[in-house]
Amino acid sequence: MPRIRNRARSRNRRRLRAVLFATLGSRCGIRSDACAGELTADKFEVHHEDGCTWDQRSVNAETRLYRYLRELRQGVRLAAACRPCNGALNQATYGTREEREAA
Ligand SMILES: [Zn+2]
Repeated sequence: MPRIRNRARSRNRRRLRAVLFATLGSRCGIRSDACAGELTADKFEVHHEDGCTWDQRSVNAETRLYRYLRELRQGVRLAAACRPCNGALNQATYGTREEREAA
């Protein structure tokens, strides 16, 4: 029983990611000139162009996807990003995890 529910939720997450990906596009929005990162619906991150106002790790993956889609409807500027660019930018903006945890 739980296995089927888990599978349905996994399918739903994939569906939500596909919708998000179709909206944001397949190019890394952070440094599209210098970045060779090819994005796919299975492999992209969401970049908040004006900074993210909530803790993305505080909610589960499904809730996070619904929230991104709601932000898009509300006009929050989001871009698809590759992991290296997004990670580098977040680290430059917020510091490394060690630095954040020490703060
Ligand atoms: Zn990139």
